Amino acid sequence: MLELKNIKKSYTTGDFTQVALKEINLKFRKNEFVAILGPSGSGKTTLLNIVGGLDRYDSGNLIINNQETIKFKDQTWDAYRNNCIGFIFQSYNLISHISILANVEMGMTLSGVKSSKRHSKAKEVLKKVGLKDHMHKKPNQLSGGQMQRVAIARALANDPDIILADEPTGALDTKTSVQIMELIKEIAKDKLVIMVTHNPELAKTYASRVIEMRDGEVISDSNPIKQSEKDEKDYKIKRTSMSFLSALKLSLNNIKTKKGRTILTSFASSIGIIGIASILSLSNGFDRQIDIFERNTLSSLPIIVSTQSLNLDEEAMAEMQNSVKTTDEDYPNIDFVIPEKSMEETFTHKNNITEDYIKYIEKANPDIVSGLAYNRYTRLNLINKIDGKVKIVNINMGSAPKNLSNDKLSVIAEKYDILTGREAKEKDELILIVDSKNHVTEDIISSLGLDTTKENIKFEDILNSEIKLVLNKDYYTKIGNYFSINTDLDKLYNSDETITLKIVGIVRLKEEFPSYAQSSGLAYTEKLLDYVISENKNSDIVKAQKNAKHNVLTGEAFDLTTEEGKETKNQVLAYLGDEAVPYMVQIFPRDFNAKDELLKYLDKYNEGKEAKDQIVYTDQAEIISSLSSNIMDAITIVLIAFSAISLIVSSIMIGIIMYISVLERTKEIGILRSLGARKKDISRVFNAETFIIGMSSGILGIIITRLLLIPANSILYNLTELKNVAVLNPIHAIILIIVSLCLTLIGGAIPAKIASKKDPVIALRTE
Ligand code: ADP
Ligand code: MG
Repeated sequence: MLELKNIKKSYTTGDFTQVALKEINLKFRKNEFVAILGPSGSGKTTLLNIVGGLDRYDSGNLIINNQETIKFKDQTWDAYRNNCIGFIFQSYNLISHISILANVEMGMTLSGVKSSKRHSKAKEVLKKVGLKDHMHKKPNQLSGGQMQRVAIARALANDPDIILADEPTGALDTKTSVQIMELIKEIAKDKLVIMVTHNPELAKTYASRVIEMRDGEVISDSNPIKQSEKDEKDYKIKRTSMSFLSALKLSLNNIKTKKGRTILTSFASSIGIIGIASILSLSNGFDRQIDIFERNTLSSLPIIVSTQSLNLDEEAMAEMQNSVKTTDEDYPNIDFVIPEKSMEETFTHKNNITEDYIKYIEKANPDIVSGLAYNRYTRLNLINKIDGKVKIVNINMGSAPKNLSNDKLSVIAEKYDILTGREAKEKDELILIVDSKNHVTEDIISSLGLDTTKENIKFEDILNSEIKLVLNKDYYTKIGNYFSINTDLDKLYNSDETITLKIVGIVRLKEEFPSYAQSSGLAYTEKLLDYVISENKNSDIVKAQKNAKHNVLTGEAFDLTTEEGKETKNQVLAYLGDEAVPYMVQIFPRDFNAKDELLKYLDKYNEGKEAKDQIVYTDQAEIISSLSSNIMDAITIVLIAFSAISLIVSSIMIGIIMYISVLERTKEIGILRSLGARKKDISRVFNAETFIIGMSSGILGIIITRLLLIPANSILYNLTELKNVAVLNPIHAIILIIVSLCLTLIGGAIPAKIASKKDPVIALRTE
């Protein structure tokens, strides 16, 4: 039993209040065909909307199932509309972008009925209204009468107890009207049908009860309910819930009707994604290239341990960067100056390279260290016959890296091409190192007694050429308290005591190593230096120098009361050949992985030692690569920030487009609400739409980026000869799709909320 008690309803627009219903009292039987007659504006539609739970009354009470609807929550009203009520409208109110079948199914879709059950039920009711053959058509492919049949089928589909029809034949011709009325009469057999009409003929012919209304009041009722009539009740109100998948399908169908716009929107909002994805791909690619470069080349640069070492740890770097920043402490208004340590002093660390340290690194695993090269102050006394005359040769020779194990490849064998001859092994053997262009400085050529005026010098002329090395005892002669160099160089040249050093090979750093690491020169073996030191440390000049307070060659006095003075004396002693630890050690890691292990090994030495006793090493590769990757990171961040702006712009754009979509779909919102959709379901429909756009713009962005990378990589290949530099990391791709999804969902959230708050009655009235 449905009962309206003192129902009042008025509408206020501005200052004007229109009373639509004044104290309506009506009772309806569970099964009857009621026609409501009345002129336009008399409140018929308002009454129907209130009975259908689409509109709320101002006061009074509507009683359903003996329940006072005053206490109904939104949810209950939605459920009531969904499974107790079937609406039939004058203007059919079908959703235009989905099929007849889907329209009829919509009520069931909203209440979460399984699709197989939905289909069979929808087909059954479509058969009943005679439209089974048309079920796959869209509403606009049908005639008015057919559309109203679809609306009737839709009203019947959920098996409601009450059918509310608002001028169902108002838009139809007489003949079709009759057919529709017949259909409604048929339905009315086992339901309560309340039909609004202003055609008294139709009302009298078909209805079992005619109620007349005027100015919001009931003025007559042909068959009111008598006191004696029994109360019947059993309307069932089941909760409704639309699944996100259904919302998605509905939106997908809607989107299909505006393909062009959706594609353009997706494309526009994918631009930000394309920007970020390409930047990430490029920077990724460059990082990888730097990494490969580092592995191949930089890692082969030696780790350097020098008595004076720049302490470029992170702290120092940060301090250095801070020192160039302007702070509050700058430009003080003071009349004094503040002394501070020099940059050099702040950042240099004095390494005290001890015998122990040398022993420690010589014990390093030959699997990780391919060689050690020592730099000492020790002077080699060299002479040679140049242009027919014996002369002193003043060149700097380096020590070729020493091999830590005879079973393993040496640095020379590993990293150099041996152009001719072989590696130097014995103490009287030298190698000539040429640079990447086979250039050698002229002083080196002339020191070998070769003609420097020639354009080029054949390998065979260099191979086996000689330099003579003289030991201190022959090289220096004592005059009083001082020493000077023996003047009879010819005698020294021909003496048996003189050691003849011979070039046994010419080598060049392999092509894959960076050019800045290449320099030319002569290199001797560590064996030679060991021998020279062992001979010279006991020479007269070294002994004399040890006891002297001045330089025995120049006469310059040392101030032995200072550290500097002592150090200068030690350097002079080392120069003359006294045993001394090297001032610099170059440690060659075998490869990239070995370098890490080597650094660990070197760090281990420092464990537990005081700062002043620690040995700080310089990793040239690290400095170069961290510089380049820092720059890369900075560029990447700036570019990503720019692209992110376009992402935000696109999410605002999505908001606007969704808002337009809400306006366009207002009618649909009303229809869905009349079929029992909850507010939540409505926002779901729109969120589903943004979900689709966000997803497709993300995926589109990734696909376009992948395609753009093809020409980008080929341009980069032409420029840099690096293959496939730009690579999109799949994890980045997934993250970007998610970001795109989230941003569009945020952009669409407000319009979706607006949609869900729309008044269903007003929504239905919009065209
Ligand atoms: P009927 O269906 O009998 O033609 P209605 O129920 O639609 O009449 O309207 C009854 C009265 O209420 C009319 O005067 C109409 O202008 C007014 N009315 C209906 N809906 C609204 C509304 N949403 N806002 C303002 N006035 C309304
Ligand atoms: Mg009306």
